Amino acid sequence: MKKGEILKTSPVAFCIECGEKKPYTVTDSRVTTSVRGTDFSYVEKSACCCACGAEIYVPEINDANVKARQEGYRKASHLITVAELERLLGKYDIGARPLASLLGFGEITVNRYISGQLPSRSHSDILLELLSCPDKMEEILENGKGSISRVAYEKCRAAIGRVKEAQGNNKIDAVSMYFLKHVTDITNLVLQKLLYYAQGFSKPLLGYTLFEDECQAWRYGPVYPEIYEKYKYSWSVQSEHDDFLASIPEASLSALSSVEREYLESLTRAFRWYSSPILIDFTHSESPWKNARGSLEPSDPSTNVISNADIETFFSVVVDRYSIKTPDDIQKYCNYRFKSVRSRRVQTNTK
Ligand SMILES: [Zn+2]
Repeated sequence: MKKGEILKTSPVAFCIECGEKKPYTVTDSRVTTSVRGTDFSYVEKSACCCACGAEIYVPEINDANVKARQEGYRKASHLITVAELERLLGKYDIGARPLASLLGFGEITVNRYISGQLPSRSHSDILLELLSCPDKMEEILENGKGSISRVAYEKCRAAIGRVKEAQGNNKIDAVSMYFLKHVTDITNLVLQKLLYYAQGFSKPLLGYTLFEDECQAWRYGPVYPEIYEKYKYSWSVQSEHDDFLASIPEASLSALSSVEREYLESLTRAFRWYSSPILIDFTHSESPWKNARGSLEPSDPSTNVISNADIETFFSVVVDRYSIKTPDDIQKYCNYRFKSVRSRRVQTNTK
């Protein structure tokens, strides 16, 4: 690229050192800071003059840094983030004002939280509960419907219906039960990985997505939060696990067709050899989890959503590349992934 072209296409801003507008480049750096006694880190952008290298003040970059800092603080202190608020409005197809009215907040309260004001702890808690619980959303919609327009009510009502329908076919429950019954010494972490791969390979191999539940990019890999919560305290020792298994009625698997059971059987055969740390390495090497984590540090907690579109794209490439034509071929992918994480581990150990 010629120099003249860079000048034309690069953004420009006023450089104090050069005394005129100059093109600048933007770099990211991770900043660790403390607000109100809470330590956290976030990615800050800075603009440097292409001509003299001095730092340049760019209002948009400054605004982005203020936002990134606020999001970092909100995440670290478990307050609902702007991104989560936007997801909440989208999920239930409701505007910020009608939502505020339903909750009995001041009319522009939710707008303020979206534009950067820190939510109070109590407001944040109720908003986070709505995000994870459509029943709660339905309750506040029905109780507060007099306070919003008919149109807003109908739209939100329909959206809640869609969310509940997606969750309510209980496919993910049945798939979880299947794994709990058929995988020896299963832990919640392994269950989460198996669910993720069951969802991932289902579109290319079964022709449809096994379940649409929201998958999040937690520290140790993809997690389906509702299933995680459900089995968090279900058992701690083998005998409790046995009792727990015995209490699962065979009928709870009835939501699975015979084709689906065979699919899950092949998937179990492919993945059952691998320990939790290896499975963590598997999902940490894959783009859907990495994309959802963005610039987060490995130790950062997160509830970022792994997009279903990302999962679909990734697994359609996987089946092509490893010529996976039937569920029994899933082993080919495991073999490849295991070799690659093992060679990386050997390298790290000998460094
Ligand atoms: Zn300059």
